[in-house]
Amino acid sequence: MLARKLIFSRQLSTSLPRFQVKLFDKLPGEGRQVSKGVQDLLGPLRAENFSNADPSKTVGYDHFDVAIVGGGIVGLATAREILKRHPHLKLTVLEKEADVAGQQTGHNSGVIHAGLYYEPGSQMAHTCVRGADLMYQYCEDNNLPVERCGKLVVACNEKEHAQVEKLYRQGTANGVKGLKIINSDEITELEPNVKAYSALLSPNTGIVNYWLVSQCIAKELRKSGRVDIKTSFEAKKFEKTSDNKVRISGSEKIMDGPQLQVTAKHVITCGGLYSDRLAGLTGGNDKKHRIVSFRGTYYQLKPEYRTLVKRNIYPVPSGGGIPVGVHFTPTVDVRRGHQTIVGPGACITFSREGYRFFDIKIRDVWDNVMNSAFWAFALKNFNLSMGELYRDLNKNAFLRSGQKYVPGLTGEMVEPSFAGVMAQVFEKGGVAAGDFIVERKVMDGLILNVRNAPSPACTASLAIGEMITDTAEQDFNWK
Ligand SMILES: Cc1cc2nc3c(=O)[nH]c(=O)nc-3n(C[C@H](O)[C@H](O)[C@H](O)COP(=O)(O)OP(=O)(O)OC[C@H]3O[C@@H](n4cnc5c(N)ncnc54)[C@H](O)[C@@H]3O)c2cc1C
Repeated sequence: MLARKLIFSRQLSTSLPRFQVKLFDKLPGEGRQVSKGVQDLLGPLRAENFSNADPSKTVGYDHFDVAIVGGGIVGLATAREILKRHPHLKLTVLEKEADVAGQQTGHNSGVIHAGLYYEPGSQMAHTCVRGADLMYQYCEDNNLPVERCGKLVVACNEKEHAQVEKLYRQGTANGVKGLKIINSDEITELEPNVKAYSALLSPNTGIVNYWLVSQCIAKELRKSGRVDIKTSFEAKKFEKTSDNKVRISGSEKIMDGPQLQVTAKHVITCGGLYSDRLAGLTGGNDKKHRIVSFRGTYYQLKPEYRTLVKRNIYPVPSGGGIPVGVHFTPTVDVRRGHQTIVGPGACITFSREGYRFFDIKIRDVWDNVMNSAFWAFALKNFNLSMGELYRDLNKNAFLRSGQKYVPGLTGEMVEPSFAGVMAQVFEKGGVAAGDFIVERKVMDGLILNVRNAPSPACTASLAIGEMITDTAEQDFNWK
């Protein structure tokens, strides 16, 4: 039977006519400069990527020294730092979306935090303070819009004042400069529409557009000719090859094909909302450090009211370890018309990419159901969680959070804006992990997984890039 099959296949192959293949020099449109009209659409940063792309370098260039999975600001900043220190290495950044920075990095408040909220001595404290300095410098060097507009963290009563004092002590211990506690009259002088008992003034807090910063880093990486950013590549499988490398297979998001593959000597995953799942795929411990996702919905001041405040106005933290409460933030985001945003809430989502209330994914709900740390958090903070769910659906409840310290705010002044979904790891007992988490030496030391990078990871990103590169140098024995 087998012999007959072999004879048949040989007959088949000899009976086929033999063609000499001919290859064209170029594909249609290859090398053509992007027209002015298209440039306007893409914006100058991106048009340059297309017109300068050298296909012999970027297409089919599938073996790398380092693969970074996740093209958010943490992955991009890490690639940038590795390249800066080791310019001989060839890198790839794999991103499942059609563009970089499409998830948390592209949908947030855009605040450069000064470093008030983090435990002295933690990596968050250190990288936030250093990262803020690096971020201001990066924006200046690259002509990106950035404003050191300052911030007030307001206490509405004596009880909250204790928190203002705590933030002052903590921020000072973290090395934040220029902090000052001010009284009610001083608040009114700086911000006539804000009424509060006292406030912490942080002059070094600022605003920036992290999506634009990421685009700029991506442009820098592409221009180096050493980094291939592969978008629409969702990493789905990690295997160790016989020559001690990692083969990463994937495909376009949602689709099953065509199969995409790269190999790399070392891998760093920076998967944001999916960091636990990615860790599981690499052989890491996905039972630990499960991600819980929260939607932060924003309103924005209508153009005629956008100057209601001049700086970031935050309430004191609401507790539970989840984000810092509905705040007012002027933005430098040209895409959204330089509006002042009001938000976000922090509503548990039923989907990891739950940008709207009714986005539901069974697998994501199931993951929460099976996560004891999630239950511990939800039960311990039952009122807070229910309040956030209600506030996410009810505009008046949302506004009341802001009216506590901006009493003149009315429903007429605001319109719906956007939402972002944040990833947060909870430890046993339902406590939000208070620091960044990195899982080391996975797959016999070939892989490093970033497992928890919530706020202030955008502010801190350039310093996180340094921290991850330090760790990679040790774990991967880079000289
Ligand atoms: C509403 C909101 C407000 C915030 N405000 C601030 C702020 O003002 N200041 C601040 O410093 N921080 C803020 N943050 C936090 C900050 O946005 C995040 O900490 C930061 O963006 C995390 O960056 P990242 O690169 O780790 O994650 P992301 O930006 O989420 O990037 C991860 C990337 O990995 C990709 N990915 C996932 N799985 C795969 C896979 N299998 N294959 C390929 N790619 C994959 C995703 O598509 C994504 O692009 C805020 C966050 C939110 C949501």
